[in-house]
Amino acid sequence: MSFLKANIDQLKKDGVYRKLPINEGPCDAEITLNGKRVINLSSNNYLGFANHPRLKKAAKEAIDKYGVGAGAVRTIVGNMDIHEQLDVVIADFKHEEAALVFQSGYNVNAGVIQAITTDKDLIISDALNHASIIDGVRLSKASRAVFKHSDMKDLERILIEKRDQYEQVLIITDGVFSMDGDIANLPEIVRLAKQYKCLTYVDDAHGSGVLGDRGRGTVDHFKLHGQVDFIVGTLSKAIGVVGGYVCGSAEMRDWLLHRGRPLLFSTAMMPAAAAAIIEAFNMLETSDEYTEKLWSNAKYFKEKLERLGFDIGHSQTPITPIIIGNEALTMAFSESLLYNGVYVSGIIFPTVPMGTGRIRCMVSALHTKKQLDKAIDIMEKTAKKLRVL
Ligand SMILES: *Cc1c(COP(=O)(O)O)cnc(C)c1O
Repeated sequence: MSFLKANIDQLKKDGVYRKLPINEGPCDAEITLNGKRVINLSSNNYLGFANHPRLKKAAKEAIDKYGVGAGAVRTIVGNMDIHEQLDVVIADFKHEEAALVFQSGYNVNAGVIQAITTDKDLIISDALNHASIIDGVRLSKASRAVFKHSDMKDLERILIEKRDQYEQVLIITDGVFSMDGDIANLPEIVRLAKQYKCLTYVDDAHGSGVLGDRGRGTVDHFKLHGQVDFIVGTLSKAIGVVGGYVCGSAEMRDWLLHRGRPLLFSTAMMPAAAAAIIEAFNMLETSDEYTEKLWSNAKYFKEKLERLGFDIGHSQTPITPIIIGNEALTMAFSESLLYNGVYVSGIIFPTVPMGTGRIRCMVSALHTKKQLDKAIDIMEKTAKKLRVL
């Protein structure tokens, strides 16, 4: 096994080796990380649902009713009424005909893309799409092409060049790009898809619960209901629990119940998770207070960072990167922030392209102005010390 040791030694030499930090309690605005109380600017828990009393109560009640495990895959006997109910709740919330829940967002991409494409098809993917999309595409027998990030001219160039050589063409994009926080140009993608008779697939992991009316997502933000064929989302970010789903037609759902491999070969979601998620959607459906608070915190935080002169890229959402560039300096900045009381994870190659290392600040609806002010103060001082600012 010396090859693994050599690989790890190389990581250490490059200054990009990491030890996983250990959180000793729930995911909140402040957490106890490695025994130290710090402000948490790293979670995807946008709305604060991960430790919300209403979700916890729903989960506890579901444990009493259903136990802790589903007992089988959905296609055998793991399909409980609460899973079926969750599919309907999600379809209603997203204003789509049908939805199907998987065990994670990653599993959705790993299962759906291969199930809806064949070797006679072409998949066209945005260059900055999430790793789970890239892996999902790899599992498909279809041919592949990549268009430059959000470059609609480049997408059309590929369509002009290749559309006629394939049966189906599937255009895949993130709704919100997780490392930069920019929003896909969905209206133009949908227009091109219609013109060139293609299918569209949007992974809205960072848009759902964040964008649109009460967090209905990027498709709602652009008022494109009924015009995107496959809408993917996660239940582990804004929704605060775990799981993933795809929305679309009833036929799509039916087909995936037969060919969505993670659904056929991996046990159904824990029923208590389904119950907590249903409660989360109830809360979003009846109040916009959570999304409003998220956006007001994000706006406040970004304006202050920008005024201090940080390079926060071109985010259009609460995702707030601070671009550093060098990989080792990025990790040093993140470590130094943690030492001083703020946890913002460093994000480097291969998660983002080489030379575009950044720390990624994730503001949530849970943060108080006081916590944000304190975090910004620590970030300014630390950045000046490391000559990042
Ligand atoms: C986080 C993320 C996923 C994975 O979701 P999980 O539910 O955590 O597996 C998939 N796609 C995108 C775009 C993501 O940002």
